[in-house]
Amino acid sequence: MIKAIIFDLDDTLISEKDYVVSGFIAVSNYVSNKVKKHTSKEIFERLQNLHNTNPNKVFNRMIDDLNFSSEIDVKELIDVYRSHKPVISLFEGALPVINKLKEQKYKLGIITDGYLIAQKKKIESLNINNLFDEIIMTDALGKEYWKPSVIPFELMSKKLNVDYSEMIYIGDNPRKDFYVSAVYPIITVRIKRDGYYQDSNYFQDVKEKFSINKLEEIFNIISKVNL
Ligand SMILES: [Mg+2]
Repeated sequence: MIKAIIFDLDDTLISEKDYVVSGFIAVSNYVSNKVKKHTSKEIFERLQNLHNTNPNKVFNRMIDDLNFSSEIDVKELIDVYRSHKPVISLFEGALPVINKLKEQKYKLGIITDGYLIAQKKKIESLNINNLFDEIIMTDALGKEYWKPSVIPFELMSKKLNVDYSEMIYIGDNPRKDFYVSAVYPIITVRIKRDGYYQDSNYFQDVKEKFSINKLEEIFNIISKVNL
């Protein structure tokens, strides 16, 4: 019997794209206040263009492009980005699913990678702490415990006092979210959404057990597994 439903956060419960936009707005405001050469809107558009071309080292490239290197250090911008209070919300349909699972007495958890400060701010801003029995931010354990490490799943099993076979993990990322099922009998579910980057490089070639297009479909999966 399934007893616990565990979620990934980024691109499973919230849109990472929305988070990036929110972070770029915070950084644009910071830069325009500090340097006073460009409006926040101009800087925001520049960041978005750079990001659309290539998502790597966007802040470094912006500083180079606009000749801000004497006024601004990239570390400041990374800090502003990660520590800003994000304006984000749960994906449409996520909250009703979470509430229904709670009503049905499932234990609920989140296992999320990402820099600790940024993930904390996301959880804080979403105000979802009380909805979940346990939230594990893997960065609090150390970078080596980010998924696909199975250690956070061991921790979750202990904290919720459920066996691996009683857990479902829902995530979006083949590079790290489903590998755990090669080690423990956790049921893995991949959420695929239209318009989102759909990677197909599976870590160690371990694929999800089920895939869904909407979180609501989790109830069908639970019924199937419990048969
Ligand atoms: Mg994710």
